[in-house]
Amino acid sequence: MASPTTTGTRRGPRHKQPQPKRVPLRTCVGCHTIQPKRQLVRLVRTAQGSVDIDPTGKAQGRGAYLHNRRECWEKALASSALDHALKATLTEAERARLRAHGEQYSNDD
Ligand SMILES: [Zn+2]
Repeated sequence: MASPTTTGTRRGPRHKQPQPKRVPLRTCVGCHTIQPKRQLVRLVRTAQGSVDIDPTGKAQGRGAYLHNRRECWEKALASSALDHALKATLTEAERARLRAHGEQYSNDD
């Protein structure tokens, strides 16, 4: 029995888009764009009340998200947007530290 080998000559019925996994979305505090969480850098307010960068995205505490774009960090730090997002008051030292962190990023996407 000759089974015809259809090597891509025939297109099957247009199949539905595979159901995308539910991606958690977060808003960048700097530019307010909604992005999949994993494309953003997470900041966390720790139980001690200090604000840290959370590279794993899993630290306990209230989180805020920023693009890895310098502009977004500058914007978030120039206003009290980050304070609001974290429901915290950032100290000058923390702002300086975060600003320095943001400076390692470029403004390119
Ligand atoms: Zn942004």
